[in-house]
Amino acid sequence: MGKFIPVALPSIGKKEQAYAADCLKTSWISSIGKYIDAFEKKFAAFCGVKHAVACSNGTVSLHAALLAAGIKPGDEVIVPALTFIATANAVVYCGAKPVFADCEPDTWNIAPASIEKLITKKTRAVIAVHLYGHPADMAPILRIARKHKLILIEDAAEAHGAEYRGKRVGSIGDIGVFSFFGNKIITTGEGGMVVTNSASLANKVRMLKGQGMNPKRKYWFPIIGYNYRMTNIEAAIGLAQLERAPSLLRKRRVIAGWYYKHLKKARNLILPVEKKWARNVFWMFTVVLKDGSRAGRDKVMKGMHKAGIETRPVFYPMHVLPPYRKKGISLPVTERVARNGINLPTYTDITEKDVAYICKTLVKLTEIR
Ligand SMILES: *Cc1c(COP(=O)(O)O)cnc(C)c1O
Repeated sequence: MGKFIPVALPSIGKKEQAYAADCLKTSWISSIGKYIDAFEKKFAAFCGVKHAVACSNGTVSLHAALLAAGIKPGDEVIVPALTFIATANAVVYCGAKPVFADCEPDTWNIAPASIEKLITKKTRAVIAVHLYGHPADMAPILRIARKHKLILIEDAAEAHGAEYRGKRVGSIGDIGVFSFFGNKIITTGEGGMVVTNSASLANKVRMLKGQGMNPKRKYWFPIIGYNYRMTNIEAAIGLAQLERAPSLLRKRRVIAGWYYKHLKKARNLILPVEKKWARNVFWMFTVVLKDGSRAGRDKVMKGMHKAGIETRPVFYPMHVLPPYRKKGISLPVTERVARNGINLPTYTDITEKDVAYICKTLVKLTEIR
């Protein structure tokens, strides 16, 4: 009794505390300061891109990225139906319309074959989401985007450090977006980043996040912008996290290894994959119940909860949520994964003993008839 294993937990060490304390001691607590600059530089290098612009969270980073890419009212943007709602909401903030694509049965990422069918005269961009830490299949998506002159945006909020054919996610499309929310692989509490190799896109994002001010003429505002700035304290925490990134990323794979080992004999579960061309960073180790397994997904989650284990359902598909509900759309793969998927606890300080206990409980709940 009394055992509780959360689904996610940030790993805050001495370094994060020291850097944040330095901001407080020196009173550099607002959105200017050395940690902002250092975090942006180091994050650009981490992704292998030329520019990184820090923002206040992942959602507004997406919004700024879409605006910088020129998304306007009436435009259509193709996004996967299986994602966190922020991906679709950011499109709506621009007055544009998200159009939902189906996903691949194994990686659960946007299916290239599903994209091409949705392209109309109004389509301006595609957002590829690297779901739960596994990169989307970028080469065919990039080919479709180039052929139809669409902007390709990567929503890498769940995949810091993941690689597609040796390239870090965020560096492959035209513009990439990250989140540093408390449950993400690298966190600043709340925070986000836009990355790109294009100086022009980076400058536009920088203007948009700072009320639209001309960087060369103080208090001259050529456009309407926003206050989407990150604080120096958040960046200080982020810099410390980034300096620890190699060990944070290594640990995620160790945890995934424990899950694979302890779920080897689970007959009613589909386990996450790692494609030959991918390096999965396992943001959330996710399993999908096979159709026809004994208990439904929600019943399994209830059983896990009773055993002191927090889990999460895989995202509800966008096209079934009230703001986006639409009759007549059927995305069968997305619907099956969403109906049967469970995110299991995945965080730096989890132990193999905890993982073994989670797996034993899960197998028991899914195997008995
Ligand atoms: C977390 C997340 C976001 C939004 O990030 P916030 O920092 O919470 O605003 C966007 N897209 C995906 C796929 C996410 O998981």
